[in-house]
Amino acid sequence: MKEVPSPKRPLITYYLIVLAAIIVINMIITPLIARRAITEVHYSKFIEMLDEGDVREVYIDRSENKISFTNKSDKNAVFVTGIVEDTGLVDKLNQAGVDYSSPIVEKASPLVTFITSWVLPLIFFMAIGNLLSRTLMKRMGGGMNAMQLGKSNARIYIQSETGIKFEDVAGQDEAKDALREIVDFLHNTSKYTEIGAQLPKGALLVGPPGTGKTLLARAVAGEADVPFFSISGSEFVEMFVGMGAAKIRDLFKQAYEKAPCIVFIDEIDTIGKKRENTGYGGGNDEREQTLNQLLAEMDGFDSKKGVVLLAATNRPEILDPALTRPGRFDRRIPVELPDLQGRIDILKVHIKKVKTEPNIRLDNVAKAAAGTSGADLANIVNEAALKAVREGRRRVATRDLEESIEVVLAGHEKKNRVLSDKEKLIVAYHEIGHAMVAALQENCAPVHKITIIPRTSGALGFTMQLEENETFLMSEEQLNNKIAVITGGRVAEELVFNSITTGASNDIEQATRIARAMISRLGMSEFGMVAFEQDTAQYLGGEFVSTSSAQTRAKIDQLTVEKVQEQYDRAKEILSNNMPKLHELAKYLFENETITGEEFMKILEKPVQKLVASVDTEAVSDAQSENI
Ligand code: ADP
Ligand code: MG
Ligand code: ZN
Repeated sequence: MKEVPSPKRPLITYYLIVLAAIIVINMIITPLIARRAITEVHYSKFIEMLDEGDVREVYIDRSENKISFTNKSDKNAVFVTGIVEDTGLVDKLNQAGVDYSSPIVEKASPLVTFITSWVLPLIFFMAIGNLLSRTLMKRMGGGMNAMQLGKSNARIYIQSETGIKFEDVAGQDEAKDALREIVDFLHNTSKYTEIGAQLPKGALLVGPPGTGKTLLARAVAGEADVPFFSISGSEFVEMFVGMGAAKIRDLFKQAYEKAPCIVFIDEIDTIGKKRENTGYGGGNDEREQTLNQLLAEMDGFDSKKGVVLLAATNRPEILDPALTRPGRFDRRIPVELPDLQGRIDILKVHIKKVKTEPNIRLDNVAKAAAGTSGADLANIVNEAALKAVREGRRRVATRDLEESIEVVLAGHEKKNRVLSDKEKLIVAYHEIGHAMVAALQENCAPVHKITIIPRTSGALGFTMQLEENETFLMSEEQLNNKIAVITGGRVAEELVFNSITTGASNDIEQATRIARAMISRLGMSEFGMVAFEQDTAQYLGGEFVSTSSAQTRAKIDQLTVEKVQEQYDRAKEILSNNMPKLHELAKYLFENETITGEEFMKILEKPVQKLVASVDTEAVSDAQSENI
């Protein structure tokens, strides 16, 4: 059993101590102090002191049948004595010139006494205790008041009045298409269920911060016109073990009641982090329970009921694999950084909110703001407006926008990967190298899209090829061509810059893997139909065990090197024969950042090959894409 840290105990202890302290002070110490100060004297002694002129003030309390008085020699001392039938007392007091009507001790009403000595201290200490618990919780990542802990606050029911529509999200067309399908499903559930189709249970929006994931989710709510439950992952991180899980349960219960509806969990990485067994302190217990509850809810989740689960994260790589496996968040919607056109569109959306000079040049601004996210661009527009106000102008000028870019990017430079122009140019040549080798060979999958926008995956650029048909059989020629395409990136770098970069590490691995497989397993070498390596963990992504002798292995290595080199040379020949096109295309890509296969083929002056069947994008990115 892990020890469960519960901050509840120290709090209760705290209250008990405070209560005890108040009791001690009121019942024991106060009377003690009070008793010490008051001295009981005989009536005769009082008269004696009065005669000696030592008495200062006298208070006659008929209700308690006592006389309290102070003397002149000791200002702090208070004396009491009983009331004796003494008709001459008043005369004596008058004679001595003692003020006898004024009370010595302010006699408070019992209610006031009770409040000041019991209620006020209690309230005071409770306030301190609350403050204490709140800081404690803030440190633990929660934001709730201690009093609300027992309740689940999944009542984050935001009626679909976010007012945001897809048109407010600029660019991100692919993400929007994927989400539109979900909206459509919610509107026309029967259309899908009649055929027996099942939509994915959950869609996960992944992408760098500020690219509009949260915005897209809110737009879905605005478009779908169904109830929208939105909660941030961090709100599930609770102080007490089990509370987060209870919130999840509650959230889904409410969602079912309101179906059809959308449940959106933002920043899901806070609860969806990989579970690990540190066995230390048990600090993750709460999060693990929350995650387990979420997984359980998703398993019992029936998308026919019309509840669609959306989530967003900047860090898909740290998510627990159980969350992303089929049947859970099985659909990934990439939300990448915008390219040039995307940036222009985003600027257009945000510039509408400010007053501008008529001749504003957004394309120049977008060009200068390479590598920025949508949030950065929104920020740039705002900074520009602030700057215009600061300088006493009424309208934002292009100059303001351009100068704000630096302000916004200055703090970013290190955080985000913003490529320098030189790096960007190298990446452009590299990607065009891949694409041209692909396009200038027979029997090669056509180029679909080329981009030099850094991807979440860590790739700096990306050339996507789509097969005309889904292929199950690949000929030796096709495999060789593929190796040539993969080497094309590095070849272009070498031809143009006469130097090579680290950017091709992924390519090198891929080329080696294909070449090696051809030789050691696929019988496409002088060895003939012999497999030297066996696939032992077929379902776990292939782990090959070599069964060959050391000599054979050396030979395999040598043949692999030769094969890759052969294709490298071929790619080099292809590209060196087409240098003008290489320059032209690289320059075009450098400027536009993303180009389609059609644009590419047009510049290359080759007929566009029509795609017959579209291939599942995920499979494509695995098999056909060449990451730099
Ligand atoms: P994320 O959740 O991906 O970190 P947000 O959705 O919170 O990013 O985006 C932050 C802000 O950036 C949005 O409120 C919006 O003003 C702006 N923004 C981001 N992407 C876009 C976009 N594609 N179109 C318009 N505005 C955008
Ligand atoms: Mg967000
Ligand atoms: Zn590459």
